[in-house]
Amino acid sequence: NKLITLQSRPQGLPTDETFAVKEAPVRQPEENEVVVKSIYLSVDPYMRGRMSAAKSYVEPYRIGEVIEGGGVGEVVESRSEQFKPGDKVLGMLNWQLYSVHNGSQLRKVDDQVAPLSAYLGVIGMTGLTAYFGLMDIGRPKAGETVVVSGAAGAVGSIVGQIAKIQGARVVGIAGSEEKTKWLTEQLGFDAAINYKEEADLSAAVGQACPQGVDVYFDNVGGAVTDAVMNHLNDYARIPLCGSISAYNDASGKSDIGPRPYVKLIKTRSLMKGFVLGEYMDRLPEGAKALGQWLSEGKLRYEETIFEGFDRMPEAFMELFNGSNIGKMLVKVD
Ligand code: NDP
Repeated sequence: NKLITLQSRPQGLPTDETFAVKEAPVRQPEENEVVVKSIYLSVDPYMRGRMSAAKSYVEPYRIGEVIEGGGVGEVVESRSEQFKPGDKVLGMLNWQLYSVHNGSQLRKVDDQVAPLSAYLGVIGMTGLTAYFGLMDIGRPKAGETVVVSGAAGAVGSIVGQIAKIQGARVVGIAGSEEKTKWLTEQLGFDAAINYKEEADLSAAVGQACPQGVDVYFDNVGGAVTDAVMNHLNDYARIPLCGSISAYNDASGKSDIGPRPYVKLIKTRSLMKGFVLGEYMDRLPEGAKALGQWLSEGKLRYEETIFEGFDRMPEAFMELFNGSNIGKMLVKVD
């Protein structure tokens, strides 16, 4: 059996030295435990936070210990009454080819209902994050302007499409021409801005949002957020979902703004941080809405899939280069 551990805490961007690939036998399952063969393992930006020692809303990974993250796999051996070999399951899996889990921590999923990978993306953690952040905090109304950063990523691409379903005008901000084209030509965004190519990003946002910004779904923070905040309308709402531009800030100072925060007073706007974990009791509502929009063809999703377990570290590091369109995943074999 192969596994990947946290070798050292990264200073700045994670590197190959952050991870170690090791071999170790799979232990025998005890009562109520199952052995799971990993099929898709998820790499997510929040894992960068867990690689630091700093306390957050999830425990830091420990050095030398196997990394855990969302995954789907197949039960190959079961000592749990809930599962039998062949069942497909979703849960926090280890970065291992095979791992042993308590059955109570896994949920059965059905590959006849949706492709297994979708349980980690559009109808899973990232899709639900998009749904609750936008619907509960952003609350877009028809005719309003919604701007989303990290727009071509797993969360952002779903945010923009849900906002369209609500009748809003949607502007996406992403890091390449390929991505902005995908947003406007495939996903129905009204406009998209490549933040890496704009000398004056604030002016570009102003041009793309002639009526100002009513909702700004923030995935990235930093300069992109400053540029959008210059254009807030009165009573704008800002679901603060993530701040990926700061996750590798090696200075530890995290001087990331938002610099125009006084704009919040002038416009009496709301900026509210949230984590999906707060919405556990409402997950069925989100899953139902996302499932329905998917089946009606109103929601599309993309995945960037790296093949091979050994590419887990690479896939994770590539999140910070923006190599992914839609959800970044690793197909284990
Ligand atoms: P994505 O699929 O969006 O992947 C990350 C993307 O971030 C990259 O593709 C890249 O796209 C962009 N990016 C990387 N570095 C920078 C940078 N320095 N400045 C601007 N953009 C950058 O990941 P997710 O959809 O999974 O996550 C998006 C955000 O949502 C993250 O901040 C994450 O932490 C947060 N999140 C929060 C949750 C919550 O409960 N609050 C739950 C899930 C995610 P590009 O080419 O456009 O630069």
